[in-house]
Amino acid sequence: MLIAHTPQVQIWRFYAHNSLRNYTYVLLETAARTATVLDPWDGEDLLTWAEQEKVKLTGVLNTHGHHDHIRGNEALLKAGVALKTSLPILSAHPVPGHTMDHVAFRLLGTPHFFTGDTLFQAGVGNCKNGGDPGVLYHTVQELGRLLTDESVLHVGHDYLAKNLSFALHVEPSNLVAQARLKELAGQVSYELPPHTWAMEKQLNPFLRLSQTELQQRVRELKPDLASGPTSDEMLFRALRSLRDNF
Ligand SMILES: [Zn+2]
Repeated sequence: MLIAHTPQVQIWRFYAHNSLRNYTYVLLETAARTATVLDPWDGEDLLTWAEQEKVKLTGVLNTHGHHDHIRGNEALLKAGVALKTSLPILSAHPVPGHTMDHVAFRLLGTPHFFTGDTLFQAGVGNCKNGGDPGVLYHTVQELGRLLTDESVLHVGHDYLAKNLSFALHVEPSNLVAQARLKELAGQVSYELPPHTWAMEKQLNPFLRLSQTELQQRVRELKPDLASGPTSDEMLFRALRSLRDNF
């Protein structure tokens, strides 16, 4: 579905209907009808779509090397799509933590930012397959400097409902998270528009380490943290571990 557009580029988002709930993105240069694919789940589906829409897929990029983000590369490369982009306003930013080679992409001059598995709606990526939560903590701090409240975050998976439940598990009186979870009832979560950074700061527990209620809850749930001083990085690691087992 067409999820956003700028004067030059349309952003299309495809939901994979798989258990991992992957999103693939296509950045379509409106005038030239050429497009760059990000993190293709199903290359054949994308080629069919491009033919229907009279779009030429010219490039494919991946935020990181996990199978579910590169699965569609093979079919696209076979069809002559190159491992690069022709989009001059797309820039890559290293965002290690979920994996050490992870990059995020930004459409320069626009608010649109593609996070892959670094940041999700109301959560962050896990660090179980080649990642490191301490490195991810520092990356998330760096994102806080790179992004603005208006930044629009295009994420790698739809984990919104479960992430909101976890957010309320560790910060039960977060009214924004409560309201967002209520809004989800009766809606198809993977069809909803992306969040802004401003929204994330209000409901994403990994961005809310300074909140007293969250700190107290994490101490209750992780008794080994309770004694002694707790740094933000320790809290972040504890949250990541709680979410892994949620
Ligand atoms: Zn991944």
